[in-house]
Amino acid sequence: MTAIDNHYLDLPEDFYRTISPEPLPHAELLHSNRQLQQQLDKNFSDELLLKITSGNSPELQSVAQKYTGHQFGYYNPDLGDGRGLLLGQVYDSTGQSWDLHLKGSGQTPFSRRGDGRAVLRSAIREYLVGEALHHLGVPTSRCLSICHSPETVYREQPETRASYIRVAKTHIRFGHFEWLAQRQDKAGMQKLADYVIRHNYSHLQTMQGEERYQQLLSEIIEGTAQLMAKWQAVGFCHGVMNTDNMSVAAETFDFGPFAFMDDFKIHYICNHTDTQGRYAYSQQPNIGLWNCQVLAGAFEAIAGESIQQKVLDRYIETYNAHYHELMAAKFGIRDPQKLNKGFIADTLILLDQSALDFHYFFRLLNYFDSEEHEKFTGYLPDSKAWHKWLGQYAELMLDEEDPHSIRSRHNPQLVLRNYIAQEIIEEAQQGRHQMLADWMQYLQTPYQVPESLTEKLHRYMQPPPNNQKGFALSCSS
Ligand code: AMP
Ligand code: MG
Ligand code: MG
Repeated sequence: MTAIDNHYLDLPEDFYRTISPEPLPHAELLHSNRQLQQQLDKNFSDELLLKITSGNSPELQSVAQKYTGHQFGYYNPDLGDGRGLLLGQVYDSTGQSWDLHLKGSGQTPFSRRGDGRAVLRSAIREYLVGEALHHLGVPTSRCLSICHSPETVYREQPETRASYIRVAKTHIRFGHFEWLAQRQDKAGMQKLADYVIRHNYSHLQTMQGEERYQQLLSEIIEGTAQLMAKWQAVGFCHGVMNTDNMSVAAETFDFGPFAFMDDFKIHYICNHTDTQGRYAYSQQPNIGLWNCQVLAGAFEAIAGESIQQKVLDRYIETYNAHYHELMAAKFGIRDPQKLNKGFIADTLILLDQSALDFHYFFRLLNYFDSEEHEKFTGYLPDSKAWHKWLGQYAELMLDEEDPHSIRSRHNPQLVLRNYIAQEIIEEAQQGRHQMLADWMQYLQTPYQVPESLTEKLHRYMQPPPNNQKGFALSCSS
């Protein structure tokens, strides 16, 4: 068996509680992610994965981590792992350590009123979306294995229970630093920052003093800005960007009612509990910044106040540059300088006004040919505004050499839309697991669906049927 040690135990004892998982009754292994195992240079047997994923590994030194965080703008001092445990880490061949975290593992001292359990529906959603984002080029946690149990768990309705292993570069959240700042624990803060540097930002190890922590903060913020740009460009809405759901490794983390955009709505809200739209699509970059400001505030004790403004300016610069680059590529433009901001904004406003499908629209651009651009009119609403847009786009495309290949590498054919995840969940709830296994495969090549599958997947490559579009989900999972 591959060693799974837990280097989180290097940190002070009050950073965690040591707890064994609660075994999942009558557990069945639904899927194991072979591709992820290859990337980790591991080859776990299904037998071993069933044992660990179903919570039958009391020999591991698993812990519930303490953290706090801002939820919907308000500080909550009572957070921590309430239904998950950090099992330990494995190392890949490059020496990078990867956290294995068991979700749905039972109650902990941080469960508050929660039951410590996960349901199959949200387990499958998280299982799939890690693959979807990863293969779209978006940093994210992923899942290694998933178990199902016939045990009933009550949410808005009775559901069945599940558990899964989440793999991430770290499970340290912005909220870990907020917790230490709140209790004015400068020494603890330094220990945690050193831990993060050791395992995730090892190139900073040679730096000393405040500068070391300033640079760490700066890199976390830069990574977060890039992540936000990527979410916007792939039309991804996280739904619950509380600071306890933000990873210091700048990976997409802690999924709830996430959604990929269907019909484009600038102010799309995927979480129906979010009545104010705090985490609407249009708000994500601002909230990313807000969260970074909270983190910078927490870092004051160890990094000094003087650099905060500089670091936050860096967020805005990084976000703008990266977003612009990614959008230029979606349009098939090689040199982002050539594209002005106004054209991106105008396109998004038109998409919103015409309720066009975000992914389908960009993929359609592949059929655009500047020599015969009037032919493209048939794909767009017949309005003055779109005719004008087409003229502008044709002009932009005039001296582009190979826009087709840039566009097809940046506009996916296949996206994990909510209705697709729902079909997979309903199949699994009926005891049929093939669709989950198939989609774990399909999601690996979103930009180029293999020829052999295009007929089979044709309907999923189209905008969804009207009654399947843009549904919002709740936080309950
Ligand atoms: P989340 O909405 O997943 O970010 O969770 C926020 C906090 O609530 C975290 O501390 C979770 O561990 C805790 N929590 C959420 N759901 C449950 C549950 N069913 N049982 C125990 N704790 C939970
Ligand atoms: Mg959370
Ligand atoms: Mg969660």
